[in-house]
Amino acid sequence: MARINENYFNLQGNYLFAEIGKRVERFKAAHPDADVIKLGIGDVTRPLTPAVIASMHTAVDEMGEASSFRGYGPEQGYPFLREKIADVKYTRRGAAVDKDEIFISDGSKCDTGNILEIFGTDNKIAITDPVYPVYVDTNVMSGRSGPYKDGKYENITYIPCTIENNFVPELPKDKVDIIYLCYPNNPTGMVLNKSQLKKWVDYARENKAIILFDAAYEAYVREDDIPHTIYEIPGADEVAIEFNSFSKSAAFTGTRCAYTLIPKKVMAYSSSGEAHPLHPLWNRRHTTKFNGVSYIVQRAAEAALSEEGLKQTGEIIDYYMANAEIIKEGLKSVGIQAFGGVNSPYIWLKTPNGMTSWQFFDKLLNDVSIAGTPGAGFGRSGEGYFRLTAFGSRENTYTAVDRIKNKLKLK
Ligand code: PLP
Repeated sequence: MARINENYFNLQGNYLFAEIGKRVERFKAAHPDADVIKLGIGDVTRPLTPAVIASMHTAVDEMGEASSFRGYGPEQGYPFLREKIADVKYTRRGAAVDKDEIFISDGSKCDTGNILEIFGTDNKIAITDPVYPVYVDTNVMSGRSGPYKDGKYENITYIPCTIENNFVPELPKDKVDIIYLCYPNNPTGMVLNKSQLKKWVDYARENKAIILFDAAYEAYVREDDIPHTIYEIPGADEVAIEFNSFSKSAAFTGTRCAYTLIPKKVMAYSSSGEAHPLHPLWNRRHTTKFNGVSYIVQRAAEAALSEEGLKQTGEIIDYYMANAEIIKEGLKSVGIQAFGGVNSPYIWLKTPNGMTSWQFFDKLLNDVSIAGTPGAGFGRSGEGYFRLTAFGSRENTYTAVDRIKNKLKLK
């Protein structure tokens, strides 16, 4: 008799984006002339840059010639890309890493989920709340979460990030083993400075814990004291695994390329208390279950990190960040408290007049035909908040802000 993984029964239906879609469709059916502006999406809209496209074309041509054709590549990624990432993303920032510590993959979503395979199921997990839902659901699937009760999983430690603590997570009172940190944060758009992040690195070192650091929005960091990588913090290379992706930095959400960095010094412990490096385990897992990102895409990613590529992607990020400023200023001008949007493409606002996240969703849609994302969809501590993104066009961003200023009825 084939048995099912019953942990899946514990998953809570992720109705967030389905429910948003349903409500928008219902609204459009009732108001066929309404021009709905979507500021809810967490997907980029500007296309791949010329440097990336040129490199992809060259790689396509290489694949069409017997002399330069490539079959299976190294599962960990081609050395040309791993070297480029080590140089541009780490060494230049004073965080020396070895290219062999970098694993190329087709996405940080899969990596942040798959990484759990190399950890025992009895680890105590901590997440910040609100949170990117993938971290929670993959722990549920693997049987670490315990049952769901009152909006929480019993075995997960939730660390609230709200206005009350200025969205800075406090160290857990109970002892945890694996900590997910995502900075710049999705959904709040907030960041940790170096001394705030150092507290977590120190906690992990003292407690032999591991930090899973998701840096998917690192390219949006603008301020000086905000780390681009956790390895800017001394000692992090003993306790942190870092995930990063070309999705949001170089418009690769549909092209797919990411990387995970596991320093060779990072250890986890066997039941007898013996320390074991995690790098060989992930290498084994990766080489067994993954057959590499396509050569064409890895050449594209390499080009995104060339001087020309960085300049071009930098211009796109500047474009989104100008949108973020426009949105944030617009919200403030009508008395709505808004956070994030300085080192991140996400703006996290406090719903006005004590509205719930979904009440504000309906109000924004009905009054001004704007669709955003209710904060409650990211966890209990997201209730009473709402996420807008800077990924729209400049024109739509201006129109949306104009509507918020002139047509949103807050009284
Ligand atoms: N991590 C965070 C925090 C994200 O918000 C996202 C996508 O929205 C991802 C990872 C996914 O990245 P990728 O496209 O590389 O799978």
